[in-house]
Amino acid sequence: MTVVSVVACETYDPEAVRRALEAAVAPLGGMGRFVRPGMRVLLKPNLIAPFPLDRAVTTHPTVVRAVAEMVQEAGGEVWIGDSPAGPIRDSESFWRRTGMADVAAATSARLVPFEGAEWRTLRGQDYFIARPLFAADLVITLPKLKTHTLTLYTGAVKNLFGAIPGTRKREVHFRAPAVPDFSRALVDILELIRPGLAIMDGVIGQEGNGPGAGGTPRAYGCLAASADPVALDTVLSRAMGCRPGEVFHLREAAVRGLGVDDLEEIEVVGDRRVLNFGPVRLPVVQRVLRVPLPGWVSAPLQRVTRVRPRLTAPADCAGCGRCAEACPREAITAGRPPLFHLDQCIGCMCCAEVCPEGVIAPHRSALARLLGLR
Ligand code: SF4
Ligand code: SF4
Repeated sequence: MTVVSVVACETYDPEAVRRALEAAVAPLGGMGRFVRPGMRVLLKPNLIAPFPLDRAVTTHPTVVRAVAEMVQEAGGEVWIGDSPAGPIRDSESFWRRTGMADVAAATSARLVPFEGAEWRTLRGQDYFIARPLFAADLVITLPKLKTHTLTLYTGAVKNLFGAIPGTRKREVHFRAPAVPDFSRALVDILELIRPGLAIMDGVIGQEGNGPGAGGTPRAYGCLAASADPVALDTVLSRAMGCRPGEVFHLREAAVRGLGVDDLEEIEVVGDRRVLNFGPVRLPVVQRVLRVPLPGWVSAPLQRVTRVRPRLTAPADCAGCGRCAEACPREAITAGRPPLFHLDQCIGCMCCAEVCPEGVIAPHRSALARLLGLR
């Protein structure tokens, strides 16, 4: 049985986090099972955008620091790396605002910017992946427990999309606009990187229209760990209320034999009661049609029921232009507020992810609402 370990942790107090992480990793064999002396270990937190920590967008630095210390005590050399969703304007400020500069200062971990990258090809698709992911002996994915307006849920697998530097992520969205295609790309990236350990920061995550500033912080009160990122995501996404098969990339990963997405085949150890989250507000997402329809029916139906971005509070727009920079279809003219050209839009919601004011939200068409599509 694949093991997923869950423990209660309701605070980011450093000692409590460290104790809880030790307890989470112990049933997996402890950190020493994964880290050998001298190994270069890359910690990949979710640093999608340097928003204030109380927005619960990024993996909390206390969690990253505790994992770094555990890796070092097992004899590993720690690297910390990620690339945000939009352009990296000032990497020093990025590390400082995400709290990673403090982690590096306290632990002597090395901050590795995901700027240099190399092409890898899988199943006929090219991916531009940051070099540290391949230079490290072990990758530990350190996601944040959040909803996602494109993939419904983001976690250990989706976190790896940060391996593609900055705005190069737009190329993947551009060539894979539909959720199933984009999900297959996520699984390609998982297959290329193959993290050896996944540890979830679920102390405070998000519900609603995550994963950026548009999501609502939500206390889940847990940390979780597994050697199988797909199993970890399966357990947590189901606890959040996602239905089996609904997080498309988890199903795809399981079909390819990259992990387990069947709760019957996963042993959850530790304090299972912490998974009783109660009702979680899931985001408005594009519904993937699963009934077999001919292309001439499904294509226009998907188009008219597609989720689109909408400005919820134009007066609060800061005019920063990040949404326009992140858009893979150049469907936004920068301004205050920006202008959306929805005929070009593919509904990827990259603009909402990067908006620092959280004023872009997904919106269902009247027809989608009429059809009862979530
Ligand atoms: S407008 Fe927003 S949702 Fe539409 S394609 Fe651009 S980034 Fe994606
Ligand atoms: S909508 Fe958001 S991302 Fe776009 S310009 Fe305004 S504040 Fe910036």
